[in-house]
Amino acid sequence: VNTTARWFDGETPTPHTVTLSLVGRYLTAISNDGRSFQWPCAEIVRVAALPGGGATIMPVHGSPERLVIEASGADATLAKLCPNYHRLTRFSSRDRLTVVRGMALIAAVLVTVLFGVPLAAPLIARAVPASVDAWLGARVEGSALTQLTGGAPRYCQNAPGSAALADLNRRLSAAANLDAPVSVSVVNHSLVNAVALPGNRVVVFSGLLNTLTDGDQLAGVIAHELGHLARRDPMARVIAMMIWSTVIDGLMGIGASGIVLPFLNAAHSREVETATDRAGVAILARAGIASEGFARAMEQLARQDRAGPFAFGLLDTHPPSLERAAAIRAIGHTGRAAMTDQQWSAIRSLCR
Ligand SMILES: [Zn+2]
Repeated sequence: VNTTARWFDGETPTPHTVTLSLVGRYLTAISNDGRSFQWPCAEIVRVAALPGGGATIMPVHGSPERLVIEASGADATLAKLCPNYHRLTRFSSRDRLTVVRGMALIAAVLVTVLFGVPLAAPLIARAVPASVDAWLGARVEGSALTQLTGGAPRYCQNAPGSAALADLNRRLSAAANLDAPVSVSVVNHSLVNAVALPGNRVVVFSGLLNTLTDGDQLAGVIAHELGHLARRDPMARVIAMMIWSTVIDGLMGIGASGIVLPFLNAAHSREVETATDRAGVAILARAGIASEGFARAMEQLARQDRAGPFAFGLLDTHPPSLERAAAIRAIGHTGRAAMTDQQWSAIRSLCR
């Protein structure tokens, strides 16, 4: 094969005319000023095909040199002889294998993290010292409530209401066997929800108090939140979120965790909530309080299911409240009333 081509040396803009021939596995060029070059076929890479069957090529992969070969059939001939001719437009099989291996590794890490973290986080949470738990709880409560209310949250207190709530808290906490005192506070906000936070903290929003209709329902709700505390769920969730967001942002880009985490939370909340409902029923039983109010509370809340901004809201959308009410009733027990009507109205009017 003998043909002429224009050779750009990569330094000067003017092309040199060269005569090309293929000798063995080398492309040989002789320029019209007498210089000669040999390029191994393995180094030759196509930059672009030319109309008419020619091609612009890189005689040495990665170099700034270019050969423009107009001869028809040049592109097809080089494609046949040069093993890396198409490497710019197509992965070599080795590159493809590397990509496949890399993706498999990332997938393996993600699967391990997505499924392993929910198993490991509760164990880590149990090892966290109470002092760290308390410190973190205060910070989480402060920042979450400030974010929710858009300013300093208003804690509702008055003598009869606070006393009635403290009395309920004392009896249920004793039944929950928690290692540190529990603080149950009421915050003035329309959210129909209650949350358990690290540091043995429970926050009840006035929107929930306005929705519930008696003290037995409130006792059920608080027993559920104490169940989360006994299981150390809030701390486990904080730990899981930290690991998940670090790994997901690291592998998929900063901010990716913001999109993925809500789905992860929803996927893992179902079994946690079901187990916590059982723990709540057991706490009510040890406190001698009937569990029927707990089931009625879930039915009451089923009418306004919506997820709040907290990980451990009472109203996590999964499982549905009516299903939970049925499950609670199935393992329910009789007992006495959680409080007097006067105590309930005192608690209910805390924020009014
Ligand atoms: Zn819950």
